[in-house]
Amino acid sequence: MKFSDILGNQQAVNRVRQLIDNDRLPHALLLHGDVGTPKLALARAMAQYLHCTNRTGGEPCGVCPSCRQHASLNHTDTFYSFPYHKKHEESVCDDFIPEWKDYLDENPIVEDFQTWLATLKIENQQPNIYIKESDNIMRKMSMSAFTAKYKVHIMWLPEKMREDCANKLLKLIEEPYDDCKFIFVSDNAKAILPTIFSRTQRIELMRVPLGEIAAYLMSTYGIDQQQAMAMAASADGNVSQAVRMLQTDNENHEFHERFVELMRLAYMRDLVKLKAWSDVIAEMKREKSRRFLTYAARQVRENFVSNLHTPGLNYMTREEEQFSIKFAPFINENNVERMLNEFTRAEQEIQGNGNARIILFDMAVRTTILIKR
Ligand SMILES: [Zn+2]
Repeated sequence: MKFSDILGNQQAVNRVRQLIDNDRLPHALLLHGDVGTPKLALARAMAQYLHCTNRTGGEPCGVCPSCRQHASLNHTDTFYSFPYHKKHEESVCDDFIPEWKDYLDENPIVEDFQTWLATLKIENQQPNIYIKESDNIMRKMSMSAFTAKYKVHIMWLPEKMREDCANKLLKLIEEPYDDCKFIFVSDNAKAILPTIFSRTQRIELMRVPLGEIAAYLMSTYGIDQQQAMAMAASADGNVSQAVRMLQTDNENHEFHERFVELMRLAYMRDLVKLKAWSDVIAEMKREKSRRFLTYAARQVRENFVSNLHTPGLNYMTREEEQFSIKFAPFINENNVERMLNEFTRAEQEIQGNGNARIILFDMAVRTTILIKR
């Protein structure tokens, strides 16, 4: 992550760059601002710049070993905490690093709590930062830095920290080890416990101007200026909302086409093309292929329900509805459950780091058996 990747907020960027250049970065810095301002990206750019061994023109070089570790989110002296759900009493953030990497990989420019919940698949829960994580942080910070002069701990959403966790961290934040830098990244600084808040130096990030959001959407997603401006305007300076709206639009359309393709090829028993189809899905990022499988399961369910002809039970877009007219009769009580199981199982196996090509092709082959001519 480079400073030039940060949308808007030139003042904040200049300030943190200067702090690092002058070796005056405080032990506990709070980057805060409205939802949809690029705070986490700035924290990552700061850590990379701090660790870069060959800073060039006020930017990290991007090629030194430390920059390369940052790019792959594997820097040995950079740690992350974030809200998570407890799988068991001992759960800490490190248990969720694969999901965290997927999430940052897919949402590098601006963070978005809803997307994080979706990545964790816990949309209806309220994750926190629990006391076990404070033990984990203290353990990491007590070790000396591996390769860099400073260890950096980035905590995303300290306002989600439980009080017992915060209390345990207080001393470490107040009297830190010389080589420790905390960067807190908050959507809502008012909700941070006062004991933590008062111990930080603070920099506020501002909403990104519409023109800049639109330019970002155009260059990243290849949409035209009119659509980009419309998205930026309805998102009201919230970059993550604009991106989410656009991604949902684009992705829904793409997933629909892939779903139709799968069902057509399965009906025709075209194994060669099904192999190519599964390779395309396998090449998506892991999170995206999982979202596709969730989408496919939902379509199967929707099509089954639409056979009942009960208005109000169906939630389909116009193109999905159009396809459903001919497709729905193929989904019935004989195959609906097994079909749903196929998608759910594939999704879980991919989450468990199985070989996506094999998992998806197996699933596609079994779909040919379930779709009766
Ligand atoms: Zn570098």
